[in-house]
Amino acid sequence: MNQTQPTTTLTSRPALFGPNRVLLGNEDQEWAVYLTGTGDLFEKPSIEQAAASAAEFNASAYATYDGHPMTPVTYALVLRNGYAWTQSTEHRAGRDCGLTDCVSCAAVRMAAVQ
Ligand SMILES: [Zn+2]
Repeated sequence: MNQTQPTTTLTSRPALFGPNRVLLGNEDQEWAVYLTGTGDLFEKPSIEQAAASAAEFNASAYATYDGHPMTPVTYALVLRNGYAWTQSTEHRAGRDCGLTDCVSCAAVRMAAVQ
């Protein structure tokens, strides 16, 4: 799914983490990839696919960047429920990071089932 969101420019860089973090995507999409600059949003079925897609985009963008000051720089961000995701940020906020092989989150999930 490809949806266009309002464009976020580097001059108006939003807070990605913390109490005032900005909603970049859709809260009803668990996983997505968001491209800064264009605001393109690509829904993904899993964290693994979102991370792989973002990694491929970032590597490709870096490989083709010519360094010219007029060339736009863009980043691919993994979003979870519309917000920028990193494992460490989720853990610091006390949230499940979503990675199935995360030992600390798996322990919490197991405790919740019992
Ligand atoms: Zn975790």
